[in-house]
Amino acid sequence: MQVRGRQTEGMGPAVGSPPRVQGGAIFSTDPLLCASHAPGYNTWATCGQAQDHLERGRAPPRIEGIVEQETYVALDLETTGLSPERDRIIEIGMVKFTPQGVLDTFATFVNPGRPISFQITQLTGIRDRDVRDAPTLETLLPAIRSFIGKSTLVGHNIGFDISFLAAAGLRLRNPSIDTFALAGIVWPHAARYNLATLAAEMGITPQASHRALEDADTARQLFLALLERARQLPLSLIQDINRLAEGTGWPLAGIFRSIEHARTRSGFARATLADQLRAKGLLDYSGAVALLEDVEAVEEVTPAPDLVSFDIEAQKALFLPDGLLAQQFPGYEFRPQQVTMLEAVAETLRDGGVLMIEAGTGTGKTLAYLVPAAYYAVSQGKRVVISTNTINLQDQIYQKDIPDLQRILPFPFRAAVLKGRSNYLCLRKLQTMKQSRQLSADEVHALVRILIWAQSTATGDQAELMLPNDTDKAVWSYLSAESETCLNEECRYFQRGSCFLQRARQRAAGSHLIIVNHSLLLADAAVENAVLPEYDCLIVDEAHHLEDATTKQLSFHVSQPAIEQELGWLTGSSRGRGFQGLLHEAVALLSPHLAPDSRAELMRLSQEIAGLAEQVRDAAQSLFSSLAAFAEHQNDTSGDYSLRLRITDALRVQPRWSQIEIMWDNTAVLISGLRERLRRLGQMAVEAASLDDMEGLPELIRDLAGRAEFWNLIQSEVTAILTSSRANRVDWLEILPEANTASLHSAPLHVGEMIYEYLLSRRHAVVFTSATLRAGEDFSFLRERLGILDAREVALDSPFDYRASTLIYCPTDMPEPSQPFYLASVARAIEQVALALRGRTLVLFTSYHQLRKALELVGPALHEAGITILAQGNGSSRTQLLQQFKESSDTVLFGTRSFWEGIDVVGPALSCVIITRLPFAVPTEPIFEARSEAFEDPFQQYSVPDAILRFRQGFGRLIRSHTDRGVVVILDRRVLSKRYGQMFLKALPSCTVEHGPLDFVGHRAAQWVGSRS
Ligand code: SF4
Repeated sequence: MQVRGRQTEGMGPAVGSPPRVQGGAIFSTDPLLCASHAPGYNTWATCGQAQDHLERGRAPPRIEGIVEQETYVALDLETTGLSPERDRIIEIGMVKFTPQGVLDTFATFVNPGRPISFQITQLTGIRDRDVRDAPTLETLLPAIRSFIGKSTLVGHNIGFDISFLAAAGLRLRNPSIDTFALAGIVWPHAARYNLATLAAEMGITPQASHRALEDADTARQLFLALLERARQLPLSLIQDINRLAEGTGWPLAGIFRSIEHARTRSGFARATLADQLRAKGLLDYSGAVALLEDVEAVEEVTPAPDLVSFDIEAQKALFLPDGLLAQQFPGYEFRPQQVTMLEAVAETLRDGGVLMIEAGTGTGKTLAYLVPAAYYAVSQGKRVVISTNTINLQDQIYQKDIPDLQRILPFPFRAAVLKGRSNYLCLRKLQTMKQSRQLSADEVHALVRILIWAQSTATGDQAELMLPNDTDKAVWSYLSAESETCLNEECRYFQRGSCFLQRARQRAAGSHLIIVNHSLLLADAAVENAVLPEYDCLIVDEAHHLEDATTKQLSFHVSQPAIEQELGWLTGSSRGRGFQGLLHEAVALLSPHLAPDSRAELMRLSQEIAGLAEQVRDAAQSLFSSLAAFAEHQNDTSGDYSLRLRITDALRVQPRWSQIEIMWDNTAVLISGLRERLRRLGQMAVEAASLDDMEGLPELIRDLAGRAEFWNLIQSEVTAILTSSRANRVDWLEILPEANTASLHSAPLHVGEMIYEYLLSRRHAVVFTSATLRAGEDFSFLRERLGILDAREVALDSPFDYRASTLIYCPTDMPEPSQPFYLASVARAIEQVALALRGRTLVLFTSYHQLRKALELVGPALHEAGITILAQGNGSSRTQLLQQFKESSDTVLFGTRSFWEGIDVVGPALSCVIITRLPFAVPTEPIFEARSEAFEDPFQQYSVPDAILRFRQGFGRLIRSHTDRGVVVILDRRVLSKRYGQMFLKALPSCTVEHGPLDFVGHRAAQWVGSRS
């Protein structure tokens, strides 16, 4: 007690380096705890010693607004795994503190009564012998309870720790603050949100990580740093947050309440710059948005022959061994293929037409097309659009390659990145949602994050924000700048020049190069080029994805959750969640301005819409449940994760289907009624607008029209899907087993004509490029899929020496994938390779089912050998798995379809790629099946070339630099036993190929990787 009193009075310092944990001990500076240690435990430090330890460190930040007497306990546990039910605690660390300083610490190992896995020991350094003599959790619970007392708990993902203690019988009712959640709110630009990264970004240097006391103390320091950041927020924003959070039970509400309380109580509502500007009317509600510099007045893109001429030889000279690139970029390597590509692209831009150019890995194709594009755009005064499949590549080009070129090219040029509307924040909708009073705690959390982020973002681009859960995504989807609800010129944010989307488009209009992704390119095509400014030439990178991207862009799908969400936004009655809704807003806005008769009609309409919305919700629920039951009844389709059932005329004549049609007819009547009433409500708003100039009315009119249009689309598309076949569409029903929900889909059957019509026929020049454009010896497969009638075709080999660097090993005694023991053999091969190379292996599967089975078979042996398996589908995102794979040693990565491309691990961290099976599409997948029907020999003409493209992508994961070396193991015997198998091998660069016994694979892999040619 004395220690605590002295520290509180003395405003004790923060922990600089907390005590190390030693075996089997409770460490506490609390004399009560010191005295109450169970007999037999070793006390590591006396209270005085520990106190000395705490005296070091820096002064704590001043935290206004936090009740000074409030005591917190930062808590962290180390455990044997992630499941509170199945796993056990092995170490506990706690730091008791106030904002003024540390009061006490508590640390102990815990005997889990079971062995600690290698991975956990690897992660934490805690071994079985460390915990063997430690107390059990049961004996520690009274001490833990006593230490925590009534304090507020603080921790990173604190729910995890609380749930472990609860599973052990300690049900804590204390308030808790999750630093992960708080960081997401007040530090929206963090690169990552794990404890170590956040601590580093806040200038906190942890003593160690993945140890309980150290992590608890890092969480304490992070908490204080985050509080300080929260205190810096504008008072008006804090007041908005408190109003939104009122009565919602949002766990972080207390922090913002106390900050506001302290400011107003002190009589010094400390005016930040933002507050002062807001008071003067110079700042928008959304913070710094109005402070952004005006978008430069849009400069015309006009010819500038005085700056540069379109001289192809001059461009080639830049890439020569003594050229400008070699002078400016350390480590630059001259690659003849890159110059050949530049020349082909430049000639196409100059002469017009279509170029298909395949450039193997390592060619440096981005610069090979950016340089001629910049020369062309500036000299001719014509925009060039560059389209990528992924936003990642789009960002990489815009953030790295373009600035590099702008720095070194002998003339200035402008470039802009433009994304789809849903990537940008709509300020008008943010303002509307901010007025809401009926948000759930999760929605408040998501909205507060976006509000705070809106203070500092210059782009309003969602890529800057982490949206980890479904509520975040749902709130974003409401707040994004979707077209149905955009007021364009009528919007006040548009008029003030603060609309993010508008600003991005203005920047694009004034740029020579515009970097987009395929979905925006196609959205532009779908609306007759109304999204992008006029452009002359197009370069499509990652062009092998264009057919899928076009298909996706022109697809439709609807599910029960989508309907629920729409109804929730309309009525604010989404099963007790959601904000007040558009209907409420319409009544509040219109009724004061209407004559009594019209007001009565408004109230009647409003009640009818609310009633119909409920009926539509129930009818849709019954319909989708029946669809799910129908699909399960028909479950003769393959597909091991989700069930996809193609809806054909043969299916539509089944008796059970007629019941579904009847249900839909009834639902459609309700939707018609809802739609008509929304239209009438919209008319009333238009009439009111003609009489009165009410603020918010144009937005309301647009929103109502958007909602009516939504229901119109649902009605027409679902009617078409359920009742009749259309010439160029394929329809299907999909069930996600884990969610047990059905969804209806339709997609275009052929997209080539549309690509030709909108992308090819209207441009002076179009370049398609990728590392994989050929599905055999020529470009015919992709040319036909993309509707390319005539093109110059160039294939450039990779500059890498594959024969010297890459061994392709094909076991000769593998069973075929359909035969017994195939999976057992796959597991044997993985085990041998992983043991021989100590991990460093990427295993590519074609299905989750196969991946999980292999994991079960090979997991225990690799675990025993200390090799970690990172597997897709274990809860971590693709990015997290890749990051972990790159950073860890002794690791194997298991992935399915999305891992066959886009993985770029340079160096020995990836020394082997195992292709478990040739990546044929599932023949019953609806779009694939429907497209197959157009071929005489679907397997040879469609399945094989489609799989070869994917196979080449998978192969391409291995060698990413001149110095890489490794093995590709192909475990699908069909490459040897089938005639078409040879086509797969022939599609690869010339490597060293060996056939041999399965049991030799590990030895040979180690030999190859270990040797140097
Ligand atoms: S112009 Fe459209 S996207 Fe921009 S703020 Fe207004 S409504 Fe939102």
